Amino acid sequence: MKAIVVTPKKSGVEVKDIPMRESLGKGKVLVKTLYTGICGTDRGIVNAKITFTYPPDGYNFLILGHEGLGMVEEVGDGVKYLKKGDFVVPVVRRGCGVCLNCRIGRQDFCETGKFVEAGIRGKHGFMREEFVDDELWLVKVPDEIKDIAVLTEPLSNVVKAIDELLFVQRRMIWTCEDSTFECRNAFIIGSGPIGTFFSLILTTLGFNVYMINKRDPSPMEDYISKRLGVTFINSMKEGDKLPEADLIVDTSGVPSAFIPLMSKMRPNSALILFGTLEGEKYEITSDLVTFMVERNIIVIGSVNASKRDFQGALNYLSIWKNRYYDVLQRMITSKVSVEQAPEVLMRKPSGEIKTVIVWD
Ligand SMILES: [Zn+2]
Ligand SMILES: [Zn+2]
Repeated sequence: MKAIVVTPKKSGVEVKDIPMRESLGKGKVLVKTLYTGICGTDRGIVNAKITFTYPPDGYNFLILGHEGLGMVEEVGDGVKYLKKGDFVVPVVRRGCGVCLNCRIGRQDFCETGKFVEAGIRGKHGFMREEFVDDELWLVKVPDEIKDIAVLTEPLSNVVKAIDELLFVQRRMIWTCEDSTFECRNAFIIGSGPIGTFFSLILTTLGFNVYMINKRDPSPMEDYISKRLGVTFINSMKEGDKLPEADLIVDTSGVPSAFIPLMSKMRPNSALILFGTLEGEKYEITSDLVTFMVERNIIVIGSVNASKRDFQGALNYLSIWKNRYYDVLQRMITSKVSVEQAPEVLMRKPSGEIKTVIVWD
């Protein structure tokens, strides 16, 4: 079977023929891979910049890929809900089996840290022709959105973060006089796929969205922001155009990108930290601490997603297929063959929002 393979903690990636045939036991499903998405985590692994990656037990290599879309090829005994021909997206993180959150399907809130993640740590990923998985970890995709469902996994993480935001913001009244969020301003720092997903969800929920980067928008970003009714701000020259913020979402992981903007935060506002990066330094002053205390500002770090967030992502994709189909299509900036994949995994093509590998 063809697979895209890395040696964790070593730079490099290759397409290999792996003699692997997993057995179709009770409750298991054989899935034929159709598409896999590429993201910054994959590039961090192939360039040996991500240090927490490791192969599954008994292997010295790791099959890459955590953003998958496949079709059910065969089902084992005891499979209840899936049948041959169904489209499915696999969940990435598999729980530790010990902590309470993992035991109720909220492995995204694992407390032991002993989880594994497909294509990232301790478990083979989905960049291969086929894989066997438990039905439990496969999310059924409605047929009508199969062409965009490869976006489900990255979107699921954003759905989770927004779910947390709306949960914690019930600590007081955060809706407007007309019960909507239309009086609330959200700043999204970064305009990659995650920033675009935050813009899509927050726009759908009625927020006024400002997408912020330290450069002018690319033609594609310009198209997408205009289409969503989002204001794109080049923070290097238009920072003074920004109003006050009820929400700041950082997708960059760069403290110098979001801390200076925190002076714009209104009382009872929230800061979501979503991006990660190593080695950046920035000073937090006691004045900023006082500002945050006096304004009840809440900080939410958010990672990963549960199966229900994958379902939430599919629900959004169904809505947007009607409302923003052109935006979703443009987010997939290129489709490459398996043979072309190592090159785009090593180096991000310019203008990329989401590159997808085609397995058919
Ligand atoms: Zn990813
Ligand atoms: Zn756990």
